Amino acid sequence: MNRNQSLFDGINSHASFSKVNPVFRLPLGWKFSRAPAGVNVFFTMRNGGVSEPPYESLNLGFHVGDDREHVSQNRTALAEMLGVDPAAITSPRQRHTPKPMLLERDEQVGSGAFGEESLFDPCDGLITALPNAPILLHFADCLPVVLAAGGRRPAVGALHAGRRGLAAGVIANGVAVMKNELGADPGRIVAALGPAIGPCCYEVGPRAAQVFKARFGPEAVTGNRADLAAAAIIDLKASGIPAANIHLLDICTSCDKHFYSYRRDGGVTGRHGAIAWLE
Ligand SMILES: [Zn+2]
Repeated sequence: MNRNQSLFDGINSHASFSKVNPVFRLPLGWKFSRAPAGVNVFFTMRNGGVSEPPYESLNLGFHVGDDREHVSQNRTALAEMLGVDPAAITSPRQRHTPKPMLLERDEQVGSGAFGEESLFDPCDGLITALPNAPILLHFADCLPVVLAAGGRRPAVGALHAGRRGLAAGVIANGVAVMKNELGADPGRIVAALGPAIGPCCYEVGPRAAQVFKARFGPEAVTGNRADLAAAAIIDLKASGIPAANIHLLDICTSCDKHFYSYRRDGGVTGRHGAIAWLE
């Protein structure tokens, strides 16, 4: 993807992910195979759902104009394939903020499972130590960043890292919640970066490029092309997560038509997901 390679030295590549395609017509995606024991992380693709164009087919977002019943069926199919309870899926109302929240009480579990409304609003990251409480965030170009801590006090979190959220500190805020609220040691947190628009396709305006460059340095901007993964890696490292614990799927959602891309699809499209849970 024509990147500044020194920043990516020591970062794990897509070999840390395995493609899952159990049966034709079932949800398809990438499992993060280097998650700590007891932690599950899965990134979906477009395939395997019931939504019709322009949302075909595994659209997981309720807010994009798709048939609500179709989205519910898609989420249920995904949950069944993964062996989790669809009614336990907790999903925030994402608004490009740098604000993560903690899912900490049983009565919060399942908020946003079958509708746009959520107790977590505005919220661009969900973090939990509760078992059997899958968190689901949805994306169409923005970068999914999943944080996982194993050991005696397991925790998992998913962050919505677009250009604005990254610049405003969503990564540092997410790591801080895991550290301060759940006692996770950043040196042992593992990060999985899912599919996102790559620097190959993400040209922004000169002003936005300047702001991004001022925030993250030249490694995150080439010309007017922003590199969301580079920015995330810079902040993950600054938050104390070692390069060896960072894993990059490295698929561009605009280049690869098996993903939703807000830019490529002209703004009217569905959402793929990042879903993570503790056993
Ligand atoms: Zn691309």
